[in-house]
Amino acid sequence: MSALSRRDLLKTAGTGVVVAAGVAPGSARAADGGAELTVDVAVVGAGLTGLTAARELQRAGKTVHVIEADERVGGRIWTTSAPGGREPVNWGATFVGPSQDKVLALASELGVGTYKTWDTGKNVQDFAGKVQRYTGTVPPLDLLSLIEAQRVINLINSMARGIDPAAPWSSPRATGLDTVTCQTWIDANVLTGGARSLVRAAILAIFSCEPAEISPLHLLFYVKSAGSLEKLLNTTAGAQESQLVGGSQRLPEGLAARIGAGNLTLSSPVRKIVDTGSGVRVIAEHVTVNAKRVVVAVPPPMVPRIAFEPGLSALKDQLYQRMPMASVGKVIAIYRTPFWRAAGLTGQAVSDQGPVSNTFDLTGPGTSRGVLMGFVDGQRAREFWDLDQAERRRQVTVQFTRWFGAAAATPDDYLDLSWDAQPLHRGCPVAIPAPGALIGFGRALRRPEGRCHFASTETALVWSGYMDGAIRAGEAVAAEARAAL
Ligand SMILES: Cc1cc2nc3c(=O)[nH]c(=O)nc-3n(C[C@H](O)[C@H](O)[C@H](O)COP(=O)(O)OP(=O)(O)OC[C@H]3O[C@@H](n4cnc5c(N)ncnc54)[C@H](O)[C@@H]3O)c2cc1C
Repeated sequence: MSALSRRDLLKTAGTGVVVAAGVAPGSARAADGGAELTVDVAVVGAGLTGLTAARELQRAGKTVHVIEADERVGGRIWTTSAPGGREPVNWGATFVGPSQDKVLALASELGVGTYKTWDTGKNVQDFAGKVQRYTGTVPPLDLLSLIEAQRVINLINSMARGIDPAAPWSSPRATGLDTVTCQTWIDANVLTGGARSLVRAAILAIFSCEPAEISPLHLLFYVKSAGSLEKLLNTTAGAQESQLVGGSQRLPEGLAARIGAGNLTLSSPVRKIVDTGSGVRVIAEHVTVNAKRVVVAVPPPMVPRIAFEPGLSALKDQLYQRMPMASVGKVIAIYRTPFWRAAGLTGQAVSDQGPVSNTFDLTGPGTSRGVLMGFVDGQRAREFWDLDQAERRRQVTVQFTRWFGAAAATPDDYLDLSWDAQPLHRGCPVAIPAPGALIGFGRALRRPEGRCHFASTETALVWSGYMDGAIRAGEAVAAEARAAL
């Protein structure tokens, strides 16, 4: 289907918000028959980073065109609706929390309300085959593990304070911290079984990767970028404190509507970016955009899937070769009521056993049903989606029953989704630099090349990896591109 014929409206399930896809009137035709147009800045990718960049550039009086491969905006923010068209279901970004000022301001500007994640009652911990219920943020570990867990949290927070988020590789101990894995660091620095399980669970929960896949330097960068380990992990007073009424996708849809349908082409993967000597030619499946500059707002591993002429620098290309997406999927069980609340439970569980490593109560306003969501991360995600859906459902309901009681065995609906299986993402929630990548190649991450500027939540200095970081990355890259015009 050509870009012009895609002027038809695309409705995203669940949110009721409508986004139009099209090419500005008066556009010419490219040699391949697709539309051709000319703007100041082309933006590749209609995630929160690209949409924010486009809107900032428009605010500065520049003309923009956003080109998105998918048939919807939002990227890693994706809301559908539960069977029967009832509850919004966030497959990607879900939570917002204190100090995420940019995303909270955008929600407020767009009239998207927030509600608190249910955090009343007891949490569940399932470590070493033992299910325990506890209140508050102190996990039920033996005394030695508990003392050590607090020591390790303090150590990580204090080490993170010394990291410059713009250049973690310049930290005094950067080489030592980036040439080992977090697993090696845990083995050397954490002695008790309980504290080890807790640190491992924390890394899985934050990055959806195994501790062996990232370095302590990257962990410290992330902690610095968010403010503290507790802010990353906590529900109340942390990154999971609130959710957006109607689903997170209302944010990118609201931004897209402000940017204007004629300034956005959907369903049109960008294949090639050519520096012509006087500008750039951005060649996508159904549209070609000539611009003075291009903002490439796709996750790092997706950048080299576009052909650049001239090619990317060796350093940038090699960085991207060392920055895969982590592995994650979500399972969602919808029940007649949020029965765990009546049983005095938050609906939050953490486990060192698969497939689900942690859960949250996602029940929103306006429904009497109860929604439990679980993350399947890292190696478990790679194994879980080899199973058929009936077996996946069986395994998940067995776990949920262990944690929340017999009523968890029979959800009204069971849904699940692997982000690794999505061709435009190939994993989530974030790209993770392999050990050694930051010190060897990290300085190429935010560096523009020729007339190309690069951004995604991974380039943010504050709340990197989150919706808030994506907005900050979009603002920063818009300022950079504007200064270069
Ligand atoms: C399971 C999961 C849970 C998460 N939970 C949270 C949370 O609770 N809170 C939070 O704040 N954040 C969360 N996140 C992270 C959050 O979704 C991201 O930080 C943010 O959405 C990233 O935005 P972005 O614009 O940088 O990238 P993306 O959203 O990835 O946008 C990039 C866009 O580029 C497009 N694209 C790729 N290649 C091309 C091409 N060649 N041509 C054209 N377009 C292309 C993609 O289709 C995509 O739309 C979660 C993510 C996932 C997946």
